[in-house]
Amino acid sequence: MTGASSGIGEATAFHLRELGFDPVAAVRKEQDAERLAGSGLRTVRMDVTDVDSIATARAELGDGPLAGLVNNAGIAVAAPLEFLSLDQLRHQLEVNLVGQLAVTQRFLPALRAGRGRIVNVSSIGGRVALPLVGAYHASKFALEAISDTLRRELLSQGVDVIVIEPGGVKTPIWRKGDELAAELASDLPPEGERLYGPLITAIRKETAKIATETGIEPREVAEAIGHALTARRPRARYLVGRDAKMRAPAAAVLPARVMDRIVARMLGV
Ligand code: NDP
Repeated sequence: MTGASSGIGEATAFHLRELGFDPVAAVRKEQDAERLAGSGLRTVRMDVTDVDSIATARAELGDGPLAGLVNNAGIAVAAPLEFLSLDQLRHQLEVNLVGQLAVTQRFLPALRAGRGRIVNVSSIGGRVALPLVGAYHASKFALEAISDTLRRELLSQGVDVIVIEPGGVKTPIWRKGDELAAELASDLPPEGERLYGPLITAIRKETAKIATETGIEPREVAEAIGHALTARRPRARYLVGRDAKMRAPAAAVLPARVMDRIVARMLGV
C-alpha cells in the first residue's frame, strides 16, 4: 500500500488488516513509519519517485509472493495551465503516474507468483476534467489508460488490475493541494490574477467544502479497495461516492459543451 501515511492509504492499511491481510504500509517519512509501526502495522519506507527507494523497499520485503499492490500515493497540483510551471507538471506526472508504474514494475514478479491483484487509485478526475487541475487530471486520465493496458497485458498471467475512482474524500490532500495552489497563485503575474482570480476563488471554495462537508470518509474508499482485493469477481472499476457515481455516466453521455456549462454553473463562474 503506497502513500499509507494518511487519508485513503492509512485507512486502507488498517482495513486490510481487519480483512485478514498482512498489509505493508509504504510511507516516505520515518515519523510516519514509527507511528504506524506503533499501531502494529508492517511498514517500509518508499518514495515512488525514487527508484532506489523502491528497490530497497522491495529487497526489505523479501521474495515471497504478494496478494496485492495498492498504488495509492498521490498529490494534487493546481494552477491555470497557461501559468503552470512545466516542472510542476512533470512533478505531478512523476508522482501520480510514473511512480505508480515504477512500483508496479518492481513488484510484478512477486504479484505473478502470488496470483495477486494490482489496485490503482485513480479518481473521478480520471474521467471528468475540471478547470485549474489540468495537471492532476492528466495524471489520472493517463493512470486509467495505463491500468487498462496493464490489465489486458496481464490477462493470461493471473494478475488482475483494478481501478478505484473516488469522488471527493475528506483527506489531507485538499489542505496540501490548497497550500500548493496558494503558493503557485502567489507566483502568478498580475495578468494571471486578473484572468483566473475568480476561477481560483471558486475552486478553492469548492475544495474547502469537500474537505469539511461534502467529502466521504476515507473508510468508504478503503472498503472498495478491500472488495477489489478479495471479491471472487472484482469489477474493473469502482466509482466511490455519490458525486463520482453521478459524474461518470453524465460525462459519458453528455456532449462536452453541455458538460462545460454544467461545470461552469457548479463553480458559479
Ligand atoms: P493524502 O494526501 O492523505 O495521501 C497521499 C499519500 O501519498 C500520502 O501518504 C503521501 O505521503 C503520499 N505521497 C505523496 N507523494 C509521494 C511520493 N513521492 N512517494 C510516496 N508517497 C507519496 O491524500 P488522499 O488519501 O486523498 O490520496 C490518496 C490517493 O487518492 C491519491 O492518489 C489521490 O489522487 C486519490 N484520490 C483522492 C481523492 C480525495 O478526494 N481525497 C479523490 C480521488 C482520488 P506524505 O504524507 O509523505 O506526503
